[in-house]
Amino acid sequence: MNRTRAYLDWNATAPLRPEAREAMLRALDVTGNPSSVHGEGRAARRLVEDAREQVAALAGALPQDVIFTSGATEANTAVLRSRWTTIFAAGIEHDSVLAPLQASGALRRVIPVGRNGVAEISGLGSSLAEASAGSAIACLATLQLANNETGAIQPVAALGELARTHGVRSHTDATQAVGRIAVDFRGLGVDYLAFSSHKLGGPKGAGALIVREGALLTPWLTGGGQERRRRAGTENVAAIAGFGAAAGAAQAGLTAYARLAVLRDGLEAEMARRSPDAVFVGRETARLANTSCIALPGRSAETLVTALDLAGIAVSAGAACSSGKVAASHVLQAMGLAPEINRGAIRVSIGPATTDNDIAAFLAAWTEITRSAAKAA
Ligand code: PMP
Repeated sequence: MNRTRAYLDWNATAPLRPEAREAMLRALDVTGNPSSVHGEGRAARRLVEDAREQVAALAGALPQDVIFTSGATEANTAVLRSRWTTIFAAGIEHDSVLAPLQASGALRRVIPVGRNGVAEISGLGSSLAEASAGSAIACLATLQLANNETGAIQPVAALGELARTHGVRSHTDATQAVGRIAVDFRGLGVDYLAFSSHKLGGPKGAGALIVREGALLTPWLTGGGQERRRRAGTENVAAIAGFGAAAGAAQAGLTAYARLAVLRDGLEAEMARRSPDAVFVGRETARLANTSCIALPGRSAETLVTALDLAGIAVSAGAACSSGKVAASHVLQAMGLAPEINRGAIRVSIGPATTDNDIAAFLAAWTEITRSAAKAA
């Protein structure tokens, strides 16, 4: 990593783990197509199947339930675009859930969200029962495992149980959670779980969809019979090998992630001291140890992020995946936060390689930037 800069945007993407790089370099020289029956093909197949075991182990799933995809966006899309008549979803979901939901033509039922950023599912029972009456398999409830902007951890196991009770299928976008907290597909009791390799130190452009045996899935990509006919296309063997190696390393590194709360809480305490008007979004709820969402009311997040970038600090405003545009965050909007807080919210997300020096550099730049902005105002 470039040590002249402080990279504090791990929720956008995490640096490549050395284990993943090595596995990818080795895999690039494996010539075969994993679908070929000859020795070269079998060598490539072995890389894919070894990775499948590592990825399954990290997510508490069976290897045969793992479908390799190009990332969480594709995995979410494949589920959301299957044939549902009604989909229950909260406004805090990532666009890769909300956009295919919109395009699916299914009826959207909104899962409410509290001001702390946590979905409120306790009152959902009767509407799930009502929606599923008649055609049980046509109904889906989706809830992310951890939010990308606030880090808020969501009651997915409870939703899975509620959905099952009422004959409704359930899906979780676990992209920000896998590799950061222990994730157990079987324990969560959901039917579908999606995540991306690059958030846990694997390459970008690879991901997994885990599907419970027997759950409906309309293949999103059709053609060849790869991935047990659930996702056509020659496998991206090198990326999958890197993903598998990263998954293995991430499993060993879960406690390193948990320890980040100390660094993050220290950062927030120091920011609160320097900027008494700062609002720490979601601080009062269980959240990922690496994530902090900070708003300076009345300020522009875009200006803050740009100034921090010039000072050598990478953080983001709202969702990073929005192709350079910094719009008001739909997540904070769904939480009912006032527009002046929403517009001034930045996300700092750290990882096991983050150092005290990175945090100190951020705090120095933050103090300088907020002080000069205050003068200019
Ligand atoms: N879901 C969540 C919660 C995310 O944070 C992201 C990435 N920002 C995605 C899905 C999409 O992942 P990818 O871009 O790797 O497909």
